[in-house]
Amino acid sequence: MAWKCPQCGFVHENEAARVCEACGYVRAPGTLVLVAEQTRRSLQVGVDTAIGKELLETFAGADHAYAADPQFLLARDPVRGGWSIAPAPGAVNPTFLNGAALGAAPAPLEPGAVITIGPERLRLRVENEP
Ligand SMILES: [Zn+2]
Repeated sequence: MAWKCPQCGFVHENEAARVCEACGYVRAPGTLVLVAEQTRRSLQVGVDTAIGKELLETFAGADHAYAADPQFLLARDPVRGGWSIAPAPGAVNPTFLNGAALGAAPAPLEPGAVITIGPERLRLRVENEP
């Protein structure tokens, strides 16, 4: 689906584009949805949120036990648009994104990405809603 820039009116054919190529306007990111593969339940995130054990217990099943509180941080990216993920300082087990441990800097979170604790625990699939 195409979208029209509210600032300059430029029409973009690519729905996934987050930044207006004509004027640099950054679209507000939509709702981020985390789907727990173990339980098929999901969590919707609309604002910057620290995700930890207590929240994970409400939808992600037994693997929440591997998480710290907080385990990772989800934030909207004001420059690039979309969402980013960063590990929470002090988490015991490392947070992985698509099979690789997160570095200290926030990483872009693309639809279809998979967040895990360690290489395979607590599989959360990332979805975006406009
Ligand atoms: Zn524009």
